[in-house]
Amino acid sequence: MKRLALLLLLTVPAFSQSLDDRVQRELPALLETYKTLHGMPELSAQEAKTSAYVAARLRELGYEVTEKVGKYKEPGTTAYGVVAILKNGNGPVVLVRSDMDGLPVAEQTGLPYASQNAGVMHACGHDVHMTTLLGTAKMLADLKSKWRGTVMLIGQPAEEIVRGAEGMLADGLYERFARPDFAVALHDWATLEAGKIGYRPGPFMAASDSVNLTIRGVGGHGAAPHTTKDPVVMAAETILALQTISSRERSPLEPMVVTVGKVEGGTKRNIIPDEVRLYLTIRTFSPDVRKRVLDSIERIPRGIALMAGVPEDRAPLFEPQTGESVGPTVNDPALTERVSKAIARELGANNVVLIDQAMVSEDFGRFSDGGKTPTVLLALGAADPAKLADGTQPGLHSSKFAPADPSLVLRTGVRGAVSMVMELLGKP
Ligand SMILES: [Zn+2]
Ligand SMILES: [Zn+2]
Repeated sequence: MKRLALLLLLTVPAFSQSLDDRVQRELPALLETYKTLHGMPELSAQEAKTSAYVAARLRELGYEVTEKVGKYKEPGTTAYGVVAILKNGNGPVVLVRSDMDGLPVAEQTGLPYASQNAGVMHACGHDVHMTTLLGTAKMLADLKSKWRGTVMLIGQPAEEIVRGAEGMLADGLYERFARPDFAVALHDWATLEAGKIGYRPGPFMAASDSVNLTIRGVGGHGAAPHTTKDPVVMAAETILALQTISSRERSPLEPMVVTVGKVEGGTKRNIIPDEVRLYLTIRTFSPDVRKRVLDSIERIPRGIALMAGVPEDRAPLFEPQTGESVGPTVNDPALTERVSKAIARELGANNVVLIDQAMVSEDFGRFSDGGKTPTVLLALGAADPAKLADGTQPGLHSSKFAPADPSLVLRTGVRGAVSMVMELLGKP
């Protein structure tokens, strides 16, 4: 009986194994890859070693790989984009994207495979995305008899500064390689439990704008404020007044955030400085709200300066940082429904769930190239259910963030990504 079972096992054609069996077999290697990548994070636009690692692994799997795809506006900079193509007859082109950059965060997870690069960390799970991409690449190479078309795998640099996708497109990504019929991606999600995938048709992530405000006054002695125009007091007033944009100016039905994340000014307690700088991030969904919020952020500090009697030539400076701005991430509704259903068939319907919109931002939407390519970004659950329940689950960008049960997250990610591609390229 035993021998018969063994014989049966050996004679089962390779393609009749389930995707999950195949992924399970690959998991120990994927987990090692994940730990390696987790230990070697690099900052945005500096992904030299990471991109070389990803490119080498994709080449081993038989993909046609091109490195350093992308260009930034700054002269003398290198964009470390990776493009890996697997052509398999006539059919649509599907782009699958992973981002590759880490964050300027000092890791405090205590993991044995924690970052070896001091002050830099994969705190947004891009190590999970790269490993998932490599696992997906392996599965698609092994399953070539079951699909037709072209797979275009992207290792994208500089996601955290929302520059990489733009840089790759500016370097002729779609002209040099192929214009995708669909673009898909997964991003790990700290409010969704490991083992699940979340979807949101339509607007999913917010637009992000960065603005610098310089509140200018007239400095002087801290003991003689009447001889000055104090920019510290005006900055404080500005920070509070900016909160009224959300509470008084926008429709309560429109999501919006204005955050002053950094305040910089002054040198010593008894000196009133000449200026204070405020660094803002603004998150919105609708273009109309986005414009109104930015107008308000320009208007309010001017009003406060006027109230304080600041001379016109010392009026506050409003400086949008357009290079750091990005539009909302909008999931094509039909594509979202189609791939979510395909993933539900693989993972079980209870593991594929509708999730809320989020005010975080992404540059993946740029791959739609102005709406020409339907795109979908899904959320890959990475949270520990117990920690989610008691509110102790660290969020993305936290020094304590790491995906709960990385084996489960990787297994879910690869099964999800392969299901999406097979749905779009699979043979009928
Ligand atoms: Zn991030
Ligand atoms: Zn991220």
